[in-house]
Amino acid sequence: MSDSPWANWNGEEQLLDSVHVPATDRGFLFGDAIYEVLRVYHGQPFLFEQHLARLEKNLRQLRINSDAAVIRQRITALLQRSQVQDGVVYIQVTRGSAPRTHRFPEPAVRPNELIWVAPQGDPYAALRTIGGKAITTRDLRWKRCDIKSVNLLANVLAAEDAHAAGCVEALFTDDTGRLIEGSRTSLFGVRSGEILTAPLGSNLLPGITRQLLTELAATAGITLREEALRVEHLSDLDELFLTGTTTEILPLIQVDDVTIGKGQPGPVTQRLQAEYRRVVDRLK
Ligand code: PLP
Repeated sequence: MSDSPWANWNGEEQLLDSVHVPATDRGFLFGDAIYEVLRVYHGQPFLFEQHLARLEKNLRQLRINSDAAVIRQRITALLQRSQVQDGVVYIQVTRGSAPRTHRFPEPAVRPNELIWVAPQGDPYAALRTIGGKAITTRDLRWKRCDIKSVNLLANVLAAEDAHAAGCVEALFTDDTGRLIEGSRTSLFGVRSGEILTAPLGSNLLPGITRQLLTELAATAGITLREEALRVEHLSDLDELFLTGTTTEILPLIQVDDVTIGKGQPGPVTQRLQAEYRRVVDRLK
């Protein structure tokens, strides 16, 4: 039996291995597409409404005429079919397939909608306990990083540089030395008992886990302030951590050659990790 994940391609359930994307797909040719990634715990999609709301907003931003309610139904059916308990849902919607020209096809074509549900182990389990290292890298991305588009070349190159340096993540810095976010994660620091993170804007993705983190911090009575961390202040931090759909909450203990705090995961991060687990276990 094939171990290919189950997929839904334009409404048709099939194995992901048998999905063939047309060569004129605009996501393929232009990166004219958005995507979304959800975590599945205990067979349930985690933060489902929040991810669908972001998907819908991104579709509107790109003026792609796809229905998030239909996507929702397809995800639910695919989860049922695949019986995945612990895994991820990947969604990608492109403007569709059309003869290659930059402007939108006229008349409009049907968007290409791809969903797959795949079982996934937890690659970050050990690092969540012992902490990981990161590098800093100049943010070379476009100016609308708030849109979850598939144009991830700068992220890909940064992630590869981090990997080559034995690090879990690359942290994007702007021209003034502010730390913005990771290649696939949001970034938070802890200083004097307060959590700090860059304010939302067009230079970073409004992370769904970031939003959950702000709620967990409020529940735990920890102040969270939207203030960007700075490279030259890294040594003043007590703790530093990443958040993301598959990363969850991951402590960083070193950035470039700077040790963070005591060089081990700190109590605020660990408290938030425990709160996160509590929310996940509500799906049981
Ligand atoms: N920032 C970037 C650039 C990302 O690509 C991601 C996730 O892919 C995140 C932050 C974290 O977002 P979320 O918590 O929604 O997974």
